[in-house]
Amino acid sequence: MFDLIIRSGTLVDGTGAPPRIGDIAIDGDRIVEVTTTDGGHIDGAARREIDADGQTVTPGWVDVHTHYDGQATWDPELSPSGWHGVTTVVMGNCGVGFAPARASQREWLIQLMEGVEDIPGTALAEGMSWNWESFPEYLDELDSMRRVADVSALVPHGAVRAYVMGERSANDPATEADIAAMGAIVREGVAAGAAGFSTTRTLLHRAKDGELAAGTTAGAEELIAIGLAMGETGHGVFEVASDLFDPRSEFAWMETISRETGLAVTFGCLQNDLQPEQWRRLLDLTDAANAGGARIVPQVAGRPACLLLGFESSAHPFILHQAYREIAGLPLAERVVRLRTPEVRAAILDEEPQLTGIAAFLLSSFHKLFPLGDPPEYEPAPEASVAAIAARQGRRAQEVAYDLMLEQNGRALLYLPLLGYSHGNFDAMAEMLDHPAAVLGLGDGGAHCGLLCDAGLPTFMLSHWARDRSRGARLPLATAVRHQTRRTAELYGFTDRGLLAPGLLADVNVIDMDALGSLAPEMVYDLPAGGRRLIQRATGYTATIKRGLVTREADESTGERPGRLLRGPQPA
Ligand SMILES: [Zn+2]
Repeated sequence: MFDLIIRSGTLVDGTGAPPRIGDIAIDGDRIVEVTTTDGGHIDGAARREIDADGQTVTPGWVDVHTHYDGQATWDPELSPSGWHGVTTVVMGNCGVGFAPARASQREWLIQLMEGVEDIPGTALAEGMSWNWESFPEYLDELDSMRRVADVSALVPHGAVRAYVMGERSANDPATEADIAAMGAIVREGVAAGAAGFSTTRTLLHRAKDGELAAGTTAGAEELIAIGLAMGETGHGVFEVASDLFDPRSEFAWMETISRETGLAVTFGCLQNDLQPEQWRRLLDLTDAANAGGARIVPQVAGRPACLLLGFESSAHPFILHQAYREIAGLPLAERVVRLRTPEVRAAILDEEPQLTGIAAFLLSSFHKLFPLGDPPEYEPAPEASVAAIAARQGRRAQEVAYDLMLEQNGRALLYLPLLGYSHGNFDAMAEMLDHPAAVLGLGDGGAHCGLLCDAGLPTFMLSHWARDRSRGARLPLATAVRHQTRRTAELYGFTDRGLLAPGLLADVNVIDMDALGSLAPEMVYDLPAGGRRLIQRATGYTATIKRGLVTREADESTGERPGRLLRGPQPA
């Protein structure tokens, strides 16, 4: 008698092999039998059977790029990732997180996270117990709670630097003693079970106080020393978010760490509009490094890094207009009434705010601004842009944007794809995804609450890339599944999952491909202290099974929470 049999599903097993019809048997938290021939059948009975006839059966998604460091201490659903079939997350990316932390540094770490990842500080302050100081103590806190998914955490550079050098000098040059102390903390954290170490080297990542995120300007000797200290534990991934303004010098230290430790260094690899072909050079540098014995892993996106602009978001084209600022503090419903009056509308639209720099660029890129729509469209054609609509209608782009954002009672969102959309389609991302060393990531689950929500990326990989895409080649379903199961699991050494195979963890999605989709993102106020965040709900997950237990059924929680803290790699 098995615990669970999933019958007659279309198995997409995570290896990239073509789908086949078959059964899966589960005992306890393990897959114990999988039919290997198309149409194969498992004999015997089970305490529970799921009829998956006509449904697609995949391993649970492994999302290696999230920011649930705070939320994981209070939200067992890890939403919205937990709603999208994700059964394993890695958090602590991009150099920000909450351990190690002295009591006196908590507020500072919160404003760092709030600035870099746009997670409401009030929610973090109310939501976290701060029942820890060291990284191992933080892991113990994570370990004391069960969730719908397994969690694994990176040691964040920002917190380590502040702990060693003091938060006020967290961007000063590090002394030899500072570097040694940071290395010791990282080694201790990874030895206790951290997934590795993360750092940020992008000018886009700033704390709420306007300072660059701690560690952004760290020198190569510091990064190498920390990498080698991590390497002494024999495991860990080194994660980097970098602008890569000088790719050769960034690759030099990344290669050194990887070659000397034998461990992976993963960097965010995205297309940017200033150098739309730079990613090709990054992939060439990756190939050269890996041919020389390094393991450099470009972390690539499945959807452009975007901003969702609207009257409820953290940004929109009129946010700095004086006439808007006068009503900005009103609740949305009242604001919408005012925004609809001809006087307020005219006052806002007649104003030309003096914008400079990135704000001016972002809030006036109407040719790159699109109505997101419902269901949301993430690969719109150029003629769908606000600028194109305005040209067709003989109106100003500002007016079109204003009126579009007033739709759905002021809740409609405009989509501004910032990275990965230089040529107005996903072709560059498709090529990046196809690179043999690349790993899918960058969904940023739990972060950027007021401006975007890409935690539903795993759903999108199937619904858009494998099923709906019309403006370029689709991905084979088996490839889309492999990208977010076996490939991502392997990066972190989680080889006990990511495949439908006997002996592996019973993390499984049963998916109705016809119904699979993501609803339009919506702003909700459900974080601690009423904190605001954009969420995106999924449809089409018939069942999500974590460690053998059904955690979601027909897109609703069952209340089961078998997810644990992962300490280091998880060999099969
Ligand atoms: Zn990130």
